[in-house]
Amino acid sequence: MKAVQMFAVKDLRVNEVEKPAPQDDEVLLKIMAVGVCGSDIPRINHKGPHVLPVIPGHEFAGEVIEVGKEVTGWEVSDRAAVAPLIPCNQCEWCEQGLYSLCEDYKYYGSRNDGAFAEYLAVKAENLLKLNKTTPFDWGATVDPAANAIHAFFRGDIGKEDTLTVFGMGAIGLFAIQYAKAIGITKIIAVDINTEKLETAKSCGADYLINSGNESVIEKIKEYTNGDGTTAVLEMSGAAIAQVQAVQAAAKMGRIVYLGINNGNLDIPNDAINKILRGQLSIIGSWNSFSNPFPGKEWTESVRLMEEGKLNPGKLITHRLGLDDVPEVFRKIDKEPFHFNKIMFYPHGE
Ligand SMILES: [Zn+2]
Ligand SMILES: [Zn+2]
Repeated sequence: MKAVQMFAVKDLRVNEVEKPAPQDDEVLLKIMAVGVCGSDIPRINHKGPHVLPVIPGHEFAGEVIEVGKEVTGWEVSDRAAVAPLIPCNQCEWCEQGLYSLCEDYKYYGSRNDGAFAEYLAVKAENLLKLNKTTPFDWGATVDPAANAIHAFFRGDIGKEDTLTVFGMGAIGLFAIQYAKAIGITKIIAVDINTEKLETAKSCGADYLINSGNESVIEKIKEYTNGDGTTAVLEMSGAAIAQVQAVQAAAKMGRIVYLGINNGNLDIPNDAINKILRGQLSIIGSWNSFSNPFPGKEWTESVRLMEEGKLNPGKLITHRLGLDDVPEVFRKIDKEPFHFNKIMFYPHGE
Protein backbone atom coordinates (compact mmCIF):
# COMPACT_ATOMS: atom_id res chain seq x y z
CA MET A 1 0.00 0.00 0.00
CA LYS A 2 1.00 3.62 -0.30
CA ALA A 3 2.05 5.45 2.88
CA VAL A 4 3.90 8.59 3.90
CA GLN A 5 6.81 7.72 6.17
CA MET A 6 8.85 10.12 8.24
CA PHE A 7 12.57 9.28 8.41
CA ALA A 8 13.89 12.41 10.11
CA VAL A 9 12.82 15.99 10.85
CA LYS A 10 11.54 17.49 7.55
CA ASP A 11 12.09 14.17 5.77
CA LEU A 12 8.75 12.75 4.63
CA ARG A 13 8.64 10.24 1.78
CA VAL A 14 5.78 8.60 -0.06
CA ASN A 15 6.64 4.89 -0.07
CA GLU A 16 5.21 1.52 -0.92
CA VAL A 17 4.95 -0.43 2.38
CA GLU A 18 3.34 -3.66 3.49
CA LYS A 19 -0.41 -3.44 4.07
CA PRO A 20 -1.09 -4.14 7.77
CA ALA A 21 -3.07 -7.18 8.93
CA PRO A 22 -5.45 -6.72 11.89
CA GLN A 23 -4.73 -8.46 15.22
CA ASP A 24 -7.60 -10.27 16.95
CA ASP A 25 -8.71 -7.08 18.76
CA GLU A 26 -8.33 -4.80 15.73
CA VAL A 27 -10.12 -3.95 12.51
CA LEU A 28 -8.47 -3.02 9.24
CA LEU A 29 -9.56 0.45 8.27
CA LYS A 30 -9.49 1.81 4.75
CA ILE A 31 -8.41 5.41 5.47
CA MET A 32 -10.84 7.72 3.68
CA ALA A 33 -9.79 11.05 5.22
CA VAL A 34 -6.93 12.19 7.46
CA GLY A 35 -6.28 15.73 8.67
CA VAL A 36 -3.21 17.71 9.66
CA CYS A 37 -3.23 18.48 13.39
CA GLY A 38 -1.50 21.56 14.79
CA SER A 39 0.73 19.18 16.73
CA ASP A 40 1.88 17.38 13.54
CA ILE A 41 3.60 20.55 12.32
CA PRO A 42 6.27 20.93 15.06
CA ARG A 43 6.63 17.14 15.27
CA ILE A 44 7.37 16.82 11.55
CA ASN A 45 9.19 20.10 10.92
CA HIS A 46 11.15 20.62 14.17
CA LYS A 47 11.01 18.13 17.03
CA GLY A 48 10.73 14.69 15.46
CA PRO A 49 8.50 11.84 16.69
CA HIS A 50 9.18 9.25 19.35
CA VAL A 51 10.17 6.50 16.93
CA LEU A 52 11.53 6.55 13.38
CA PRO A 53 10.57 5.77 10.75
CA VAL A 54 6.90 6.35 11.48
CA ILE A 55 3.75 6.99 9.45
CA PRO A 56 2.24 10.21 10.94
CA GLY A 57 -1.45 11.14 10.96
CA HIS A 58 -3.77 10.79 13.95
CA GLU A 59 -6.98 12.62 12.92
CA PHE A 60 -8.71 10.15 10.66
CA ALA A 61 -11.79 8.20 9.66
CA GLY A 62 -12.44 5.33 7.33
CA GLU A 63 -14.31 2.22 6.38
CA VAL A 64 -13.94 -1.14 8.12
CA ILE A 65 -12.80 -3.72 5.56
CA GLU A 66 -11.68 -6.58 7.83
CA VAL A 67 -12.62 -7.52 11.40
CA GLY A 68 -10.32 -9.26 13.92
CA LYS A 69 -11.48 -12.54 15.53
CA GLU A 70 -12.28 -11.13 18.98
CA VAL A 71 -13.98 -7.95 17.75
CA THR A 72 -17.70 -7.65 18.37
CA GLY A 73 -20.09 -4.91 17.27
CA TRP A 74 -18.26 -4.07 14.05
CA GLU A 75 -18.88 -5.26 10.52
CA VAL A 76 -17.28 -4.81 7.13
CA SER A 77 -18.48 -1.54 5.52
CA ASP A 78 -19.11 0.20 8.87
CA ARG A 79 -17.76 3.75 8.98
CA ALA A 80 -15.63 4.88 11.90
CA ALA A 81 -13.82 7.81 13.41
CA VAL A 82 -10.82 6.90 15.57
CA ALA A 83 -9.52 8.09 18.93
CA PRO A 84 -5.71 8.01 18.52
CA LEU A 85 -4.68 7.32 22.14
CA ILE A 86 -3.93 3.75 23.24
CA PRO A 87 -3.88 4.02 27.03
CA CYS A 88 -1.93 1.50 29.13
CA ASN A 89 -5.03 0.75 31.24
CA GLN A 90 -2.71 0.00 34.16
CA CYS A 91 -1.34 3.26 35.59
CA GLU A 92 -3.12 5.09 38.43
CA TRP A 93 -4.53 7.66 35.99
CA CYS A 94 -6.00 5.07 33.66
CA GLU A 95 -7.51 3.37 36.69
CA GLN A 96 -9.32 6.63 37.46
CA GLY A 97 -10.45 6.98 33.85
CA LEU A 98 -8.24 10.05 33.35
CA TYR A 99 -6.76 8.67 30.14
CA SER A 100 -5.31 12.01 28.98
CA LEU A 101 -2.88 11.67 31.91
CA CYS A 102 -1.74 8.10 31.12
CA GLU A 103 1.96 7.66 31.82
CA ASP A 104 2.67 4.83 29.38
CA TYR A 105 0.48 5.34 26.36
CA LYS A 106 0.84 4.58 22.68
CA TYR A 107 -0.54 6.85 19.99
CA TYR A 108 -1.47 6.33 16.37
CA GLY A 109 0.59 8.69 14.24
CA SER A 110 3.40 9.46 16.69
CA ARG A 111 4.43 6.47 18.82
CA ASN A 112 2.76 4.00 16.45
CA ASP A 113 2.14 4.18 12.73
CA GLY A 114 -0.76 6.44 11.82
CA ALA A 115 -3.07 7.27 8.97
CA PHE A 116 -1.06 9.08 6.29
CA ALA A 117 -1.57 5.75 4.49
CA GLU A 118 -4.14 3.82 2.52
CA TYR A 119 -4.86 1.39 5.39
CA LEU A 120 -4.30 1.11 9.13
CA ALA A 121 -5.08 -1.65 11.63
CA VAL A 122 -6.84 -0.04 14.61
CA LYS A 123 -7.98 -1.37 17.99
CA ALA A 124 -11.76 -1.81 18.04
CA GLU A 125 -12.02 0.01 21.37
CA ASN A 126 -10.68 3.15 19.67
CA LEU A 127 -13.48 3.25 17.08
CA LEU A 128 -16.57 5.45 17.08
CA LYS A 129 -19.33 4.55 14.70
CA LEU A 130 -20.36 7.12 12.11
CA ASN A 131 -23.68 6.91 10.35
CA LYS A 132 -23.71 6.43 6.59
CA THR A 133 -24.49 10.06 5.86
CA THR A 134 -21.67 11.63 7.89
CA PRO A 135 -18.82 12.53 5.51
CA PHE A 136 -15.52 10.79 6.27
CA ASP A 137 -13.71 14.12 6.44
CA TRP A 138 -16.12 15.19 9.19
CA GLY A 139 -15.23 12.00 11.03
CA ALA A 140 -11.55 12.92 10.69
CA THR A 141 -12.23 16.11 12.68
CA VAL A 142 -13.80 14.44 15.72
CA ASP A 143 -10.36 14.64 17.40
CA PRO A 144 -10.06 18.47 17.40
CA ALA A 145 -13.77 18.78 18.22
CA ALA A 146 -13.30 16.47 21.22
CA ASN A 147 -10.28 18.52 22.32
CA ALA A 148 -12.46 21.64 22.29
CA ILE A 149 -15.24 19.97 24.28
CA HIS A 150 -12.73 18.62 26.82
CA ALA A 151 -11.74 22.24 27.56
CA PHE A 152 -15.40 23.11 28.27
CA PHE A 153 -15.63 20.16 30.66
CA ARG A 154 -12.38 21.18 32.38
CA GLY A 155 -13.64 24.74 32.89
CA ASP A 156 -17.17 23.60 33.77
CA ILE A 157 -18.39 25.99 31.07
CA GLY A 158 -22.13 25.99 30.39
CA LYS A 159 -24.86 28.02 28.77
CA GLU A 160 -25.08 30.56 31.60
CA ASP A 161 -21.51 31.65 30.90
CA THR A 162 -20.23 34.42 28.70
CA LEU A 163 -17.19 33.31 26.74
CA THR A 164 -14.03 34.63 25.11
CA VAL A 165 -12.05 32.26 22.88
CA PHE A 166 -8.46 33.13 21.89
CA GLY A 167 -7.07 31.42 18.75
CA MET A 168 -9.24 30.46 15.77
CA GLY A 169 -7.46 27.31 14.67
CA ALA A 170 -9.56 24.17 14.29
CA ILE A 171 -9.99 23.66 18.05
CA GLY A 172 -10.92 27.32 18.61
CA LEU A 173 -13.48 27.22 15.80
CA PHE A 174 -15.01 24.04 17.21
CA ALA A 175 -15.13 25.79 20.59
CA ILE A 176 -17.17 28.59 18.99
CA GLN A 177 -19.53 26.07 17.35
CA TYR A 178 -19.89 24.07 20.56
CA ALA A 179 -20.54 27.23 22.62
CA LYS A 180 -23.33 28.11 20.19
CA ALA A 181 -24.68 24.53 20.28
CA ILE A 182 -24.99 24.54 24.09
CA GLY A 183 -26.69 27.93 24.10
CA ILE A 184 -24.05 30.42 25.21
CA THR A 185 -25.38 33.80 24.14
CA LYS A 186 -22.25 35.98 24.29
CA ILE A 187 -19.29 34.54 22.39
CA ILE A 188 -16.22 36.66 21.65
CA ALA A 189 -13.57 35.40 19.20
CA VAL A 190 -10.01 36.77 19.22
CA ASP A 191 -7.39 36.12 16.55
CA ILE A 192 -4.74 38.01 14.62
CA ASN A 193 -5.94 36.70 11.24
CA THR A 194 -8.90 38.32 9.49
CA GLU A 195 -9.83 35.22 7.46
CA LYS A 196 -9.92 33.06 10.57
CA LEU A 197 -12.13 35.65 12.29
CA GLU A 198 -14.52 35.56 9.34
CA THR A 199 -14.75 31.77 9.75
CA ALA A 200 -15.35 32.28 13.48
CA LYS A 201 -18.27 34.55 12.62
CA SER A 202 -19.82 31.89 10.39
CA CYS A 203 -19.32 29.38 13.25
CA GLY A 204 -21.40 31.53 15.62
CA ALA A 205 -19.14 34.14 17.24
CA ASP A 206 -21.11 37.24 18.28
CA TYR A 207 -18.10 39.58 18.47
CA LEU A 208 -14.79 39.47 16.62
CA ILE A 209 -11.59 41.10 17.86
CA ASN A 210 -8.53 41.35 15.65
CA SER A 211 -5.64 41.37 18.10
CA GLY A 212 -3.34 42.70 15.36
CA ASN A 213 -5.03 46.08 15.22
CA GLU A 214 -7.53 46.33 18.08
CA SER A 215 -7.09 46.70 21.82
CA VAL A 216 -8.24 43.26 22.96
CA ILE A 217 -9.03 44.02 26.59
CA GLU A 218 -10.74 47.34 25.88
CA LYS A 219 -12.97 45.65 23.32
CA ILE A 220 -13.86 42.76 25.63
CA LYS A 221 -14.80 45.27 28.36
CA GLU A 222 -16.88 47.20 25.87
CA TYR A 223 -18.81 44.04 24.92
CA THR A 224 -19.39 42.97 28.55
CA ASN A 225 -20.32 46.19 30.37
CA GLY A 226 -16.81 46.42 31.76
CA ASP A 227 -16.93 42.99 33.45
CA GLY A 228 -15.02 40.61 31.17
CA THR A 229 -16.41 37.16 30.38
CA THR A 230 -17.12 34.53 33.00
CA ALA A 231 -15.19 31.91 31.02
CA VAL A 232 -12.13 32.22 28.79
CA LEU A 233 -10.59 29.58 26.51
CA GLU A 234 -6.97 30.17 25.50
CA MET A 235 -6.41 28.06 22.40
CA SER A 236 -3.63 29.94 20.61
CA GLY A 237 -0.63 29.12 22.78
CA ALA A 238 0.70 32.68 22.28
CA ALA A 239 2.19 34.12 25.48
CA ILE A 240 0.49 37.48 24.94
CA ALA A 241 -2.90 35.76 24.61
CA GLN A 242 -2.25 33.76 27.77
CA VAL A 243 -1.86 37.04 29.66
CA GLN A 244 -4.83 38.65 27.90
CA ALA A 245 -6.92 35.59 28.79
CA VAL A 246 -6.42 36.49 32.46
CA GLN A 247 -7.24 40.14 31.83
CA ALA A 248 -10.36 39.15 29.85
CA ALA A 249 -11.93 37.20 32.72
CA ALA A 250 -14.69 38.49 34.99
CA LYS A 251 -14.40 38.14 38.78
CA MET A 252 -14.57 34.44 39.73
CA GLY A 253 -13.89 33.66 36.08
CA ARG A 254 -12.41 30.39 34.83
CA ILE A 255 -9.58 30.50 32.30
CA VAL A 256 -8.73 27.29 30.50
CA TYR A 257 -5.27 27.00 28.91
CA LEU A 258 -5.21 24.57 26.00
CA GLY A 259 -2.87 26.18 23.41
CA ILE A 260 0.75 25.10 23.76
CA ASN A 261 3.24 27.88 24.53
CA ASN A 262 6.75 26.69 23.73
CA GLY A 263 8.32 29.72 25.43
CA ASN A 264 8.12 31.37 28.84
CA LEU A 265 5.23 33.36 30.24
CA ASP A 266 5.74 36.73 31.94
CA ILE A 267 2.64 37.66 33.87
CA PRO A 268 2.50 41.41 34.60
CA ASN A 269 1.63 42.61 38.06
CA ASP A 270 -1.87 43.84 37.16
CA ALA A 271 -2.73 40.38 35.85
CA ILE A 272 -1.37 38.66 38.97
CA ASN A 273 -3.44 41.05 41.08
CA LYS A 274 -6.45 40.22 38.97
CA ILE A 275 -5.98 36.50 39.63
CA LEU A 276 -5.86 37.15 43.38
CA ARG A 277 -8.45 39.87 43.83
CA GLY A 278 -10.81 38.45 41.22
CA GLN A 279 -10.41 34.91 42.61
CA LEU A 280 -9.78 33.59 39.14
CA SER A 281 -9.20 29.93 38.33
CA ILE A 282 -6.58 28.99 35.76
CA ILE A 283 -7.15 25.46 34.53
CA GLY A 284 -5.10 23.27 32.22
CA SER A 285 -6.67 21.13 29.52
CA TRP A 286 -4.81 18.29 27.84
CA ASN A 287 -6.14 16.22 24.98
CA SER A 288 -9.69 14.90 24.96
CA PHE A 289 -10.29 11.70 26.90
CA SER A 290 -12.53 10.66 29.78
CA ASN A 291 -14.33 7.64 31.16
CA PRO A 292 -15.64 5.41 29.59
CA PHE A 293 -12.91 5.52 26.92
CA PRO A 294 -12.59 7.42 24.70
CA GLY A 295 -15.09 9.62 26.53
CA LYS A 296 -18.13 11.82 26.29
CA GLU A 297 -16.04 14.40 24.42
CA TRP A 298 -15.92 11.92 21.50
CA THR A 299 -19.50 10.66 21.58
CA GLU A 300 -20.82 14.22 21.91
CA SER A 301 -18.74 15.38 18.96
CA VAL A 302 -20.10 12.61 16.75
CA ARG A 303 -23.68 13.20 17.94
CA LEU A 304 -23.50 16.97 17.37
CA MET A 305 -22.01 16.47 13.91
CA GLU A 306 -24.80 14.05 13.03
CA GLU A 307 -27.34 16.61 14.27
CA GLY A 308 -25.66 19.33 12.21
CA LYS A 309 -24.79 21.37 15.32
CA LEU A 310 -21.08 21.02 14.67
CA ASN A 311 -20.12 21.69 11.07
CA PRO A 312 -16.53 20.66 10.27
CA GLY A 313 -17.07 21.63 6.64
CA LYS A 314 -16.52 25.27 7.63
CA LEU A 315 -13.02 24.45 8.86
CA ILE A 316 -11.63 22.46 5.93
CA THR A 317 -9.57 24.77 3.72
CA HIS A 318 -7.52 22.27 1.69
CA ARG A 319 -8.45 18.90 0.11
CA LEU A 320 -5.47 16.90 -1.17
CA GLY A 321 -4.10 13.42 -1.84
CA LEU A 322 -1.42 11.38 -0.04
CA ASP A 323 1.21 12.31 -2.64
CA ASP A 324 0.82 15.95 -1.57
CA VAL A 325 1.74 15.36 2.09
CA PRO A 326 5.53 16.05 1.92
CA GLU A 327 5.01 19.22 -0.13
CA VAL A 328 2.34 20.56 2.25
CA PHE A 329 4.67 20.28 5.26
CA ARG A 330 7.51 21.84 3.29
CA LYS A 331 5.24 24.73 2.34
CA ILE A 332 4.03 25.27 5.89
CA ASP A 333 7.68 25.58 6.90
CA LYS A 334 8.92 27.78 4.06
CA GLU A 335 6.04 29.85 2.68
CA PRO A 336 3.40 30.49 5.34
CA PHE A 337 -0.11 30.50 3.82
CA HIS A 338 -3.63 30.70 5.19
CA PHE A 339 -5.02 27.35 6.23
CA ASN A 340 -7.28 25.87 8.77
CA LYS A 341 -7.93 22.14 8.50
CA ILE A 342 -5.87 20.52 5.73
CA MET A 343 -7.41 17.18 4.71
CA PHE A 344 -5.89 14.30 2.76
CA TYR A 345 -7.96 11.64 0.97
CA PRO A 346 -5.83 8.49 0.48
CA HIS A 347 -8.45 6.93 -1.82
CA GLY A 348 -9.63 10.14 -3.47
CA GLU A 349 -12.45 12.46 -2.43
ZN1 LIG B 1 -4.30 16.26 17.07
ZN1 LIG C 1 -2.15 4.52 31.76
